[in-house]
Amino acid sequence: MTGQVKLDSYTDAGVIVSIDLVNQLTAAGGHAVPAAGDELGALTRILAFDPPSLAALGADDVPGFVALARVLREVFDDLRGDDVDAAAQRLNTLLARSPAQPHLAKEEGRWRLHHHPVHAELVAMYTAICAEALARVVSAGDADRLGTCQAPDCGRVFADVSKNGSRRFCTTTCQNRVKVTAFRRRRGGAGTPPAEQPLDQRRQPR
Ligand SMILES: [Zn+2]
Repeated sequence: MTGQVKLDSYTDAGVIVSIDLVNQLTAAGGHAVPAAGDELGALTRILAFDPPSLAALGADDVPGFVALARVLREVFDDLRGDDVDAAAQRLNTLLARSPAQPHLAKEEGRWRLHHHPVHAELVAMYTAICAEALARVVSAGDADRLGTCQAPDCGRVFADVSKNGSRRFCTTTCQNRVKVTAFRRRRGGAGTPPAEQPLDQRRQPR
């Protein structure tokens, strides 16, 4: 454990895109994917942070991104099962398919280090970006920071950047839902959970 996870901006973007792809293009638990035909809309939102990517995005990129998202989901599934070796092998396969090519590119007058292949198509470029970003997290010894929500009907993934690495849920919504369910179970199905009381002030066994 390396304490607080510090991600540089490149890695950060790659991790965030990976998480968005998994959450918005793959299903798990009760978590749904966009209806067929809506994947392009999801990708438009995911890539909105990078106007050149957005401009290059077309409907024919959708199957490649969906396939990439499914492999990234498998990486998170490996890590959920504490199988870092399997996750590393899966990331190596992605990296072999779309090897990173570190190079300097001038952006708004500043030279910045890019890692994706220079003239790659969009899916190949994001395969390299996502695989390298997750590989960096793994190589930093922070694989356990790539988490999957523990709410039984969720399955969304997240990067745990909390100080002690104790995050278990994708959102406070899932956290609250699970705690309310546990509260009701302890009450034998009766009673009203003290929802008006802030979550962190309730004394509950872990
Ligand atoms: Zn969740």
